[in-house]
Amino acid sequence: MRDLSLLTWKEIKEIDKEKSVVFAVMAPIEEHGWHLPLATDLIEGEYWSKGAMKLIESESDATCFYLPSFPIASASVNEFYGSIHFTMKTTYDVAYGVIDSLCCMGFKNIIVIASHADPLHLIAVEKAVRKINRKHDLCALAPMGQIFMGEGVKMPCDLEVFENEHNNDYHAGWVETSSLLAMDKDYVRDGYKDLPDSVITDRDMISTEKQLSAMGEYGYLGSPRLASSELGRKLNDNCIESIADAVLKFYNRDGYQRYEHYSLYKILPLHIGFIEAFGRVRRKKVTG
Ligand SMILES: [Zn+2]
Repeated sequence: MRDLSLLTWKEIKEIDKEKSVVFAVMAPIEEHGWHLPLATDLIEGEYWSKGAMKLIESESDATCFYLPSFPIASASVNEFYGSIHFTMKTTYDVAYGVIDSLCCMGFKNIIVIASHADPLHLIAVEKAVRKINRKHDLCALAPMGQIFMGEGVKMPCDLEVFENEHNNDYHAGWVETSSLLAMDKDYVRDGYKDLPDSVITDRDMISTEKQLSAMGEYGYLGSPRLASSELGRKLNDNCIESIADAVLKFYNRDGYQRYEHYSLYKILPLHIGFIEAFGRVRRKKVTG
């Protein structure tokens, strides 16, 4: 795998585009509680992409390339201190610009890793992918929406059981804390085991106010105290294998369709953010 941005334009022109895959991560700089860094989603996206690229290169004749990550993303909860979010329109424009540019260079397998599970972000990225795939021949895939929905390689049984017992872990809870612990325990602040659970139901996740009130003074939704690097290794491996599966199927243009369309895309109210009057990013000034 190679960093595409370190090549010259002459070198890129000579690449065999039929046998290449290009990865681009899009995720936010965003608060992740008292215990995880703002770049959590970017770190996850890069780690999972690199793991998937390794698998793809060992299981096919493809060469993988990646771009520096784009810290551009949309989210439904903007007000929390520390977050840098953008409108859905901006996320769409950036995704469109990146993919369209790569398409114009001749790349035919462009993978956007939107490693931030907020539906507003995933819909904005997918809208760009759909538009490009209509404009050019099929050339782009954003598989994270469907992978977050549970599509992908089957999890180990014990992980599935644990996940069912401790669901509603949406943001900086045991899932993300475990994931980062397994990458490098120094990403996670000491004391995560002492943090109280923040409880929210599936249904209440549609309300920004209810999310904010569950986040309280902490900023996470779930149970960081349950995290372990062993869980994180399993979660990361499953995500890497799922991305590799999606990309290999896309590369071979065979069976990739189940990763193609994010199932929440069809919920029209989630597109309301594209209308300027509703799609503002709500930033709150904090002084002192
Ligand atoms: Zn996150």
